[in-house]
Amino acid sequence: MSNFGQITAILRTDTGLVRDHNEDFVSHWEPSSETEEAQNGWLYIVADGVGGADAGEVASELTSERTISHYLAQTDEPDWGQRLLNAMQAANTDLRQFVLDRNDNSRMATTMVAAVLKENHALIANVGDSRGYLWRNGRIQQITKDQSLVAKLVEEGAITEEEAHFHPRRNVILYSLGSERSPQIDLFMQPLEPGDILLLCSDGLTRHLADEEIAQILGSEPPEKASISLVRKANERGGEDNISVGVIQYGAGTAVSTTTPQKTTKTNERPLVMANQPSANALVFNRSLLWLYTIVLGLVQTLLIFLVWFFLRV
Ligand code: CA
Repeated sequence: MSNFGQITAILRTDTGLVRDHNEDFVSHWEPSSETEEAQNGWLYIVADGVGGADAGEVASELTSERTISHYLAQTDEPDWGQRLLNAMQAANTDLRQFVLDRNDNSRMATTMVAAVLKENHALIANVGDSRGYLWRNGRIQQITKDQSLVAKLVEEGAITEEEAHFHPRRNVILYSLGSERSPQIDLFMQPLEPGDILLLCSDGLTRHLADEEIAQILGSEPPEKASISLVRKANERGGEDNISVGVIQYGAGTAVSTTTPQKTTKTNERPLVMANQPSANALVFNRSLLWLYTIVLGLVQTLLIFLVWFFLRV
């Protein structure tokens, strides 16, 4: 069973409005033939780097690229979930070796959520607090489990979900690539139905948008527009962190047809957009509103002056 023409994937990353550089990295590998597809499926990655100076961005980029190459190299591993885990583990080893070779004592680590689409299911591997979601029929559900301190505290009943959202240590992650020799990497298998959307994202999105808001955007716009809207919304709420999203629609365009009729398109012509855009969307939006407001105010003032003049005259 081939997924050619069935997958629309848009990956997007944005610096946000507060940080001066982008430590997130988005990447992908897609087959160019059915033979390649049968060997490897489709692979999408979102990684969120941490560390001082350039360390975070180097960590997220290096591990993403190494994960892809290690994944593609293991054609003799029949279990693709295991293959993805092996690839991420090998990328972890590469990053640690890179840090040793660089010999500058910098701490380099990264989260990673990676999805392989094979036939009618997805294998999703996760380390850290980036997330994989499934959107289906208007509802969204988190597939991955956050490997974070607050998620653990919620699980143990020490704090509520609400408290977790504002917790001062909400950024603390329990595992990451680069931080230890063998980090815990979780693996999830998700069966897919036509119209399903997978969302991979960094915490720069989920700190500003509730799950229901993400679901509403994914359900009302095609993938590329949805990816833009998600990033814009996070920036309108402050854009406090780098924001990355991977919107992967499975099945030929049926997902967006419920609320807005959409033409079913051939989806693999230009499947990916990767943008490190200047994050000025929110500012531009506010500025144009300000202009409108000034013009309306000017008109109202002119009208008032005219009325006063008119009534004084009579
Ligand atoms: Ca982040």
